[in-house]
Amino acid sequence: DVLSNKIAAGEVVERPASVVKELVENAIDAKSSVIEIEIEEAGLSKIRIIDNGSGIDEEDVPLAFERHATSKIKDENDLFRIKTLGFRGEALPSIASVSHLEMVTATDNHPGSKIVIDGGRVTTREKAPSRRGTDITISDLFYNTPARLKYMKTIHTELGNITDVVNRLALAHPEVSIRLRHNERMLLQTNGNGDVRQVLAAIYGVNIARNMIPIKASSLDFQLEGYISMPEITRASRNYISTMINGRFIKNYSLVKAIQEGYHTLLPIGRFPIVLLSIQMDPILVDVNVHPAKLEVRLSKEQELNQLVSETIKAAFKKKEL
Ligand code: ADP
Ligand code: MG
Repeated sequence: DVLSNKIAAGEVVERPASVVKELVENAIDAKSSVIEIEIEEAGLSKIRIIDNGSGIDEEDVPLAFERHATSKIKDENDLFRIKTLGFRGEALPSIASVSHLEMVTATDNHPGSKIVIDGGRVTTREKAPSRRGTDITISDLFYNTPARLKYMKTIHTELGNITDVVNRLALAHPEVSIRLRHNERMLLQTNGNGDVRQVLAAIYGVNIARNMIPIKASSLDFQLEGYISMPEITRASRNYISTMINGRFIKNYSLVKAIQEGYHTLLPIGRFPIVLLSIQMDPILVDVNVHPAKLEVRLSKEQELNQLVSETIKAAFKKKEL
């Protein structure tokens, strides 16, 4: 019902960036090759996502807005096992309960339909012929949850959170062309050619990307792959260290420490490198211990992994010097 969706929304959609994350993940799960993201006023007035993915059949549209109707797992730790980014079946009903939502969607076998939801209540359902894919617009986010709205930070901060989220999704999915616009200004544009270095260039600039060093290593339990910047890059913050496990971005403090340790004496205190580190491992070694949406994880063989990470980075710089 409307109330429990609103309560769930407090968990799933904290801020505009969480809405963007959930909607872009849905577009990726729908196998889109092009995703356009249009934002106004840092997402508080408008978030529009247009994709060319599978779409939703007209009769399945209500199901997509029913909480847990599409849940794929029982145990949150399963999420490193499943293939899709979405798993709880909570995002759409939550978002719909705290905004004005309009969605037009069409599949290969259905010419398209439109649904309009205001604060969780469906106000319109009609046929709406369109091309395959989904076009969803969220307006006036949190208009009916004033407490949440008051909690929003400046446009600058909220927009920063949105670009962080979109950058990470673009890095994890170089095979998808992603465009992000804010108030008509293009903030990110990737070409979807599958080359992660092209995504790095789109985010950090061609020069930085060109100088990043590829890393690759493996042990019995872990496969590492990624790119690291030279230590002298100064505009980076802790935010520029992105770590992925089995294709999902995760947060883990000791992993970040291990990366910094890899830079050893090269990294001046208070400086951060730009790092993209993708780790493959048996899902059994990952434990989601804090919050599934924020993906803070605990790792069983943490020491072993951290050592491999530090050593791989150290070795990459040694090789560079030769
Ligand atoms: P989850 O992603 O956890 O399944 P969501 O609430 O995010 O839950 O979405 C519910 C369902 O709606 C999805 O499982 C999917 O079937 C469908 N869906 C949502 N967005 C899209 C989209 N952009 N394209 C195709 N299907 C979608
Ligand atoms: Mg989802």
